[in-house]
Amino acid sequence: MLTGTRVAFIGGDARQLEVIQRLTELDATVTLIGFDNLTQSFTGATHAELTAEALADIDAVLLPVVGTDEAGKIEAIFTSKELFLTPDCFSLLPKHAKVYAGMAKPYLRNLCAEQGVVLIELLDRDDVAIYNSIPTAEGALMLAMQHTDTTIHGSTALVLGFGRTGITMARSLAGLGAKVKAGVRKQEHFARAYEMGFAPFYTKDLQQHAAGADLIFNTVPSPIVTAGVIAALPSRAVIIDLASKPGGTDFRFAERRGIKAILAPGLPGIVAPKTAGRIIASVVSQLIMDDTRERRNGA
Ligand code: NAP
Repeated sequence: MLTGTRVAFIGGDARQLEVIQRLTELDATVTLIGFDNLTQSFTGATHAELTAEALADIDAVLLPVVGTDEAGKIEAIFTSKELFLTPDCFSLLPKHAKVYAGMAKPYLRNLCAEQGVVLIELLDRDDVAIYNSIPTAEGALMLAMQHTDTTIHGSTALVLGFGRTGITMARSLAGLGAKVKAGVRKQEHFARAYEMGFAPFYTKDLQQHAAGADLIFNTVPSPIVTAGVIAALPSRAVIIDLASKPGGTDFRFAERRGIKAILAPGLPGIVAPKTAGRIIASVVSQLIMDDTRERRNGA
């Protein structure tokens, strides 16, 4: 339980409601900042403005999945007010307090470093990335269905990158009856993809494998689906680029060649916000409980 632990939520979207729900169930003392238009109420939670005083006795600060933008602005769909995280906001924050966000841009990283506050980026964690790969793969399949006029079953699908998202993507496609080719760069990934029943190839040879592809799902966050690869694709092919912005596809050339190429960031929050929120809720509540226990044992 989190009785006596004080948590402040600053901004966020529907995903954050799952986290608030979980932490109130665990009896944390919850302060909500940037939720004034919220119709749902949470037992015991109080509302506050974003000031240093509101964070003066807080043990954990929870920011949205993208913590802040490059100027410190916090995305907050449940308020019409703009929220900016400035150095002053953390000036009264207790030294032991931790800040949690899905991911942080340099602005937030620098601010936390300057203020001596520990920042935890949840999406960096293997467990979160693996759980998130489930709604990501489902969202990618949805896009593939929307943008093709043939079934996934029987199609030839290239999955580029054999990490946390790539493996789930490959397994989901195979489950639907696609012929899955896994593009890897390490020998051990080649062996693992073979063992899992996919047809492995090295990404350096991607251009040679492009000719037969109906679908490409890219998870490699660097330029990999180059003009040369796109030129070798059949005109029916669809590219779904899951890698973080700007993706790994030459979108300009794809457009010129008339190949459909879609950059699809943030799929968990789009196709399954409740699940995405629960993933964060489960991990963050455990982290705050561990932290609370350590602090109490150390005190
Ligand atoms: P990951 O576990 O690190 O997997 C990335 C894979 O790409 C690894 O297998 C890596 O191979 C491979 N790779 C990296 N650079 C490469 C290169 N130059 N050539 C060939 N292979 C290369 O990462 P992840 O968690 O799967 O995430 C992958 C991407 O998807 C990230 O950009 C992430 O932000 C994004 N993502 C997007 C969504 C969405 O909704 N669209 C959701 C989740 C994640 P090695 O092991 O050899 O390094």
